[in-house]
Amino acid sequence: MKQNDGGEKENSLFQEHHFCPVCGSPSIQLHKKGTRSIHAIQPEMVKITDSSYGDVWDLWKCGSCGHLFANPFPSPDHITSLYSASEDPLYQEEAQGRSKNFVPILNRLDRLRPKKGRLLDVGAATGILVRMAGEKGWTVEGVEPSRWCTRFAAEAYGLKLLEGDFFTLPLEESAYSAVTMIDFIEHIPHPWMVVEKAAYILEPGGVLCLVTPDIHSFTSRILGQKWWHLRPAHLAYFSRATIRILLERAGFTILSVRRYAWTFSLHYLMSRLKIFSFLLKNPRLGSLWKKFSVKLALGDSLEVYAEKR
Ligand SMILES: [Zn+2]
Repeated sequence: MKQNDGGEKENSLFQEHHFCPVCGSPSIQLHKKGTRSIHAIQPEMVKITDSSYGDVWDLWKCGSCGHLFANPFPSPDHITSLYSASEDPLYQEEAQGRSKNFVPILNRLDRLRPKKGRLLDVGAATGILVRMAGEKGWTVEGVEPSRWCTRFAAEAYGLKLLEGDFFTLPLEESAYSAVTMIDFIEHIPHPWMVVEKAAYILEPGGVLCLVTPDIHSFTSRILGQKWWHLRPAHLAYFSRATIRILLERAGFTILSVRRYAWTFSLHYLMSRLKIFSFLLKNPRLGSLWKKFSVKLALGDSLEVYAEKR
């Protein structure tokens, strides 16, 4: 790892990529200067519901595969400590909308692995998917670095999530029938190491389901800098092509790639879009918006199913 001029402490908190984190090519270069320095990253910026759209770090691009990623980046330990300290009550307010998002995913996993078995949700947040998969007959586990989330999961659902970093937790080889990573891989600087670990813990024929924003989507191209997935919490921006390279390199065969549709309440949608903020300030109307859910088929995320070879 190249040293920077920030002294020892800074070197332990931030690192640099010298190779593409997807394909391993050394042909990488600065693509877009960030709106601020990565050194300003704080726990509140990595919340799932953070709304600092358009704020990005220095983004680099791979000349071989086109992958776009933050460089420099917070070290894995630093990221775990940022997430460990982050709290996100707004995420849980949307539990109903999120559970609707997970129904089709669990239905597809049922069809792919009808005998079920052990399922591990990586980046489990408050355990919504873990709980739903358990109700469908999976033997469930979840990994989550945020202490606030794991505590919430224990108190609200009686779930004991593994607290910590997926990459460093000791997990058994070939022990899982399914691994899910919903909006997880874009938050980490070493996606290659993460999918390699997913391949290690899955049994042959086991399925990885991964959801991540698509930088080549129509919505991303139309909104440009205003695209809501351009956020400080995201350290990598994938496309259909780069996800395929990443997974095939780690020993997976792609089964299907779909466009992901989001469901959330009108209240949540309006709180994301600042032009509606005046409607939320009215206390009588404010609670009304929470009752309506909206399904947005923006198609700007990829929902990928891949089988371990
Ligand atoms: Zn590459």
